[in-house]
Order: sequence, then C-alpha cells, then structure tokens
Amino acid sequence: MLEVVGLSKSYESDGRVTRAIERIDFRVEELEFVGIVGPSGAGKTTLLKCMAGLLAPTSGRTLLRGAPVTEPPPELAVVFQDYSRSLFPWFSVRRNVLLPLRNKDDVADKAAVADEAIRAVGLGGFEEHYPSQLSGGMQQRVAIARALAYQPRVLLMDEPFASVDAQTRAELEDLVLRVREQFGVTVILVTHDIDEAVYMSDRVVVLSGPPSTVKEILDVDLPRPRDQVATKALPAFAELRARVYAEIMQRGDGPAAAAPADAPPASSAAPGSRA
Ligand code: ADP
Ligand code: MG
Repeated sequence: MLEVVGLSKSYESDGRVTRAIERIDFRVEELEFVGIVGPSGAGKTTLLKCMAGLLAPTSGRTLLRGAPVTEPPPELAVVFQDYSRSLFPWFSVRRNVLLPLRNKDDVADKAAVADEAIRAVGLGGFEEHYPSQLSGGMQQRVAIARALAYQPRVLLMDEPFASVDAQTRAELEDLVLRVREQFGVTVILVTHDIDEAVYMSDRVVVLSGPPSTVKEILDVDLPRPRDQVATKALPAFAELRARVYAEIMQRGDGPAAAAPADAPPASSAAPGSRA
C-alpha cells in the first residue's frame, strides 16, 4: 500500500543544518495499523509530513500503490496533534466535517456522510455546536470525524491524543480502533507513547534519533479487539513494550551528532516526554 524508501530530510536555516530523518525504510500493507514510535524531537512529524506529500524530502521517496508521493494524495487524510488549530472556530461541527468534502464529486449526499462520521465518533447531537463549546477531547473527535468523512484509504495521525487527559486518550484510542474496522482504512500513527503504539498497532516501527533512523520493526501479535485493561495485562504486552523501551533508550549514534556541548544528557529526553 505504502512504501517508504531511503527517506531523508534535513532542514537548513541560518546556515545550520538539522538532520531530522535519515534513510528511513519500511512498508505498510493494506488495512494494516502501523505505529511509529520515537522520542520527542526524533523527527516523527517530519517523517509523517514527507509521507503525506506536505514536505519535500531531501532524498528518498514515499510510494503509494507504487506511485511516488509528490503532493498530498487524494486518498490520504492527516490528523494532527493540535486540534485547536486544525478546526475552524467560526464553523459548526458539521461544517468543519463537511469542509474536505467540498471537492469530492463522487459523494452524493455529503451531509449524510458527514453526519455518519460525527455519529461514529460519538458526537451525534453536537452537529450545530461550535468548537469553543466543546472539550479538547471532543474537538479532537471532530478532527477525527472530518478525516473519516473524507473516506480516505490511508489515515496518517501525528500524536493525535497527546493534548488530552489520560481517560479521554484511552477512549480516543479505542474509538480509532473501532472506526478503522468500520471504515476499512489503513492507519499510520506517530506517537512518542510506547504503550499507545504497542496497544494500537499490528506492527511498530521504532525510531531512534535525532536524526531518526529505523532501529527495529516489531510485530505486535496481540489479539484483537484490544482492550485497555485485558490487553495491557498480557505478558506479551509487557514484553513488547519493554523491547521498544530498550530500543529507544540505547540511542544509536546518539545526540552528539546535533546537540551543542552544553546540552543535557540524552537520558533527560526520556521516552514519554512531551513534544
Ligand atoms: P518530532 O515530531 O519527533 O518531535 P520533528 O520532526 O518535529 O520531531 O523535528 C525533528 C527535528 O527537526 C528537530 O530537531 C526539530 O527542531 C527540527 N525541525 C523540525 N521542523 C523544522 C523546521 N521547519 N526548520 C528547521 N528545523 C526543524
Ligand atoms: Mg512531532
């Protein structure tokens, strides 16, 4: 479905070069759920933007069904971390969800599609509310509904639950797992949260960095449907998260490559730290 081939991206500003990601390779099968996990600043957002065609890589490329991604492909949707900036405050929930459908000529009844997506994320009855009238978790649900209404084949998510409280986060994780089944969509989730990556994914791509390189790709053969309590109590879950943690903590060629001499040691940027 999606193939990332030797993807590298460096930023240059004021004559200073930041190597964000370096020679990333992995592939995603149709309907697969792939988690990409790495510490904050590792280059996860950079990777996701390059994959989505929102940012030109320095070298390498992303293939979607064999075709190089050079601009955002129509069959792909992205959910970003910051819902407060991704929703239009002067539009109702329904109009926010309808927005990306504007140019979809193949959707006959757009309002029906929008309302179905709004119901799927548990916001039935809030169609005429404005974002400011909703909690953070509800606003992120609207952002997810908008992505779903667009009916993408591939959904890219960049730390979509990082700005909500723990309980809402668990609810949204399960919501995404449910609607993925319901809508039949391939999902790539970027997160700094190891538990979240293991809990949700079929496979986990472990990044170390910066600059990000693929340390390991782990199969997560935990039974589905997953359950916040039962799945996380499985010995196999504990084993997987310990393996990911160990991979991230032993940081390859390490921070010395980019960090100034007086930077704090790498261990202070522990996995789980906020972006
Ligand atoms: P993550 O999402 O894992 O936290 P990012 O992809 O946002 O990491 O950033 C990776 C590295 O690239 C960081 O060192 C960051 O400072 C740098 N970076 C990100 N965006 C830019 C930019 N537009 N210009 C320069 N440097 C950037
Ligand atoms: Mg990021």
